[in-house]
Amino acid sequence: MTSADHLPGPITCAGQVALVTGASRGIGRAIAHTLGAAGFTVVVNYASSPEAAAEVVGAIEAAGGRAWSHQANVGDEDQVEAMVKAVLEREGRIDVLINNAGITRDGLLMRMKTADWQSVIDLNLTGVFLCTRAVSKGMLKTRAGRIINITSVVALMGNAGQANYSAAKAGLLGLTRSNAAEFASRGVTVNAVAPGFIESDMTAELDKEPILKAIPLGRMGSAAEVAGAVRFLAADPAAAYITGQVLQVDGGMVMR
Ligand code: NAP
Repeated sequence: MTSADHLPGPITCAGQVALVTGASRGIGRAIAHTLGAAGFTVVVNYASSPEAAAEVVGAIEAAGGRAWSHQANVGDEDQVEAMVKAVLEREGRIDVLINNAGITRDGLLMRMKTADWQSVIDLNLTGVFLCTRAVSKGMLKTRAGRIINITSVVALMGNAGQANYSAAKAGLLGLTRSNAAEFASRGVTVNAVAPGFIESDMTAELDKEPILKAIPLGRMGSAAEVAGAVRFLAADPAAAYITGQVLQVDGGMVMR
């Protein structure tokens, strides 16, 4: 076997910095833990849960990793710019951006309030634009970086009662592909991960019976399983030639 026949391994990301939005709870927390264990210094962004964010930082440090938290509403341009500035001042680099923060404001279209439409678009779609634009300058300059956008299977299949959320998550697919095309010549990859139904605060109230019937693997996914897919795209040398793609982590729910 020649050296061209195998990729370097294992994954070692010591000295690299990952910014994870919405990392105080749920899927973002699992991503933060997973990237911390892979050696990244993890910046744990949160909006309104300082104690939960501090717990994530503490757990990463207890496992031998390095992390700190930063409060910012990723839908707010000034706060996003200030967050990225703070990370660059403290760490000097951002190697990986995980656009994970997201909200739902579900309701049938006929009764959906304009504010509920707008807040979901502002955070789940415009927030990703703002964070990506803020980190991209540094990544394009250093000609390296990986950006992963957490979308959803509802971007692919739609969902009654989630017109706002599905539209934002489908918009993320276009944003992912456009950014991948723009950044490719500078060595920056941009991909999306599309979870199906994952155990988290966001899905805690849902009626599970009809959901489970629609999942070929017959169970909800875990946040750790989504984090594993993110780690592959963010950290594995084997993902260096993957860009503009959507990796579904959905138990086979949507097969295209
Ligand atoms: P979650 O448990 O509700 O956690 C949401 C996270 O986003 C929290 O850390 C929260 O921070 C943060 N956040 C909310 N508003 C924010 C803002 N304005 N600025 C910064 N951070 C903010 O959600 P989840 O289920 O883990 O979902 C994470 C991502 O996966 C979302 O993009 C979601 O759409 C996507 N997803 C989830 C599922 C699922 O089944 N759970 C399926 C498909 C896709 P605070 O704690 O400070 O509020």
